Amino acid sequence: MTINQALRQRIRRRARFLCEYCHSSEEASAALFTFDHLLPQSLGGTDEEENLALACHRCNGRRYHFVDGIDI
Ligand SMILES: [Zn+2]
Repeated sequence: MTINQALRQRIRRRARFLCEYCHSSEEASAALFTFDHLLPQSLGGTDEEENLALACHRCNGRRYHFVDGIDI
């Protein structure tokens, strides 16, 4: 997976530097946030801006459970 710096900055700005799930601030976090695929790559998701969300580590970990529950 390659998400280039320009794309990372666009997503951060779009999310206003907040986790898109719990809205916690990246600045207040000990670690940089991660980029979560809304539709996992294993299901054909892309590295496009619209398929990516800024997520703190807690929410990114939690997403895996959501993905398990997606009914396709
Ligand atoms: Zn979060």
